Amino acid sequence: MSPVDRTLPGVPATSQVGWTTDAVARGAVATIDLDALRGNLARVRELTGDAAVMAVVKADAYGHGLVPCARAALEGGASWLGAALPDEAVALRDAGVGGRVLTWLTTPGAPWVALLERDVDVSVSAQWALEAVRAAALATGRRARVHLKADTGLSRNGATPDDWPALVGAARAAELDDLVEVTGLWSHFACADEPTHPSVGRQVGVFDEALAVAESAGLRPEVRHLANSAGALGVPRSRHDLVRVGIAMYGLSPGAAVGSARDLGLRPVMTLRARLASVKRIPSGSGISYGHTYTTTRDTTVALVPLGYADGIPRAAANVGPVLAAGSVRPIAGRVCMDQVVLDLGDDAAAPGDEVVLFGEGGPSADDWAAACGTIGYEIVTRIGPRVPRVPLEVTT
Ligand SMILES: *Cc1c(COP(=O)(O)O)cnc(C)c1O
Repeated sequence: MSPVDRTLPGVPATSQVGWTTDAVARGAVATIDLDALRGNLARVRELTGDAAVMAVVKADAYGHGLVPCARAALEGGASWLGAALPDEAVALRDAGVGGRVLTWLTTPGAPWVALLERDVDVSVSAQWALEAVRAAALATGRRARVHLKADTGLSRNGATPDDWPALVGAARAAELDDLVEVTGLWSHFACADEPTHPSVGRQVGVFDEALAVAESAGLRPEVRHLANSAGALGVPRSRHDLVRVGIAMYGLSPGAAVGSARDLGLRPVMTLRARLASVKRIPSGSGISYGHTYTTTRDTTVALVPLGYADGIPRAAANVGPVLAAGSVRPIAGRVCMDQVVLDLGDDAAAPGDEVVLFGEGGPSADDWAAACGTIGYEIVTRIGPRVPRVPLEVTT
């Protein structure tokens, strides 16, 4: 990680926070405000009562950087970390990150032994996975910590109500063989972002039945968990012992019906900024960018931003993606190119090197981008590409 340089010489009079040497060379930076992340977790804990928190750090912490975010989440009061892929869980441990870690998206051939050796809890949705976990327990001489997953209505992973009793029975038998410890029982919502959707109450009920079946089979898990951010914030009876919080921790809304980030008291963790690569006057009637989907209606100043769809700026942002530049928020002018987008600044003053804010602190939000592009804030932040340096900030200024 490069140090944060707040005193670069010769840069324009814009915010200098996060402009490391790498970021200056690239002309773009995604700063990662770890204070905001800790603050968001504190806010979630304040809103959700006694439940423990699993900080979900899959997909490189939703594009924010796996290890710094995981560490900050543990400092912020999370006791668990959630990883979709086994490799993400292994990467956490190999970086020396503590806390409990759960991984849930395994396929046959997953690195079960590596997971057990690293004290990672693994999710099991089916008999084949339980078999694989038993084999890894025998191979390592370690008891596997398993969260049994019930499909309560998402129809994604998890055992159906028909398959659940047999899975629970087999897991209990593996416990009695000292190969497995069932540490968790869990499931996942389909529509928690619409808290009044009828499936929400149905899933809560199916989960309660699954818990009862497991308990009558003799399982005594440490944690029962059903809620993601939307469930944690919008469906109190889904909180159980543990809430799995991703998007809210990153300071974005889990869904308009749950509340905007501002309503919920959340602050954006990622701020995406760039420095203008070109500023020039062009005449009225000029077409801008590929396909000329935007034409100037007056003599105007255009500015070039060195970020494009290769960096995760959606092509759907053509003529709508909001950027704060030269004092105002304005939509991208014309199509999004692979590496760049153009802004129409009118007669506002700007110079090469001036900073623009695509989203985050002080600018539009990733949720604004999502609304403009017909997607969700999750996709906006998660897809910011590897050509954009992530600079974790420990202290906000
Ligand atoms: C991604 C994910 C979460 C976190 O969801 P948010 O809506 O970001 O809080 C929780 N649980 C599971 C199983 C997930 O895949």
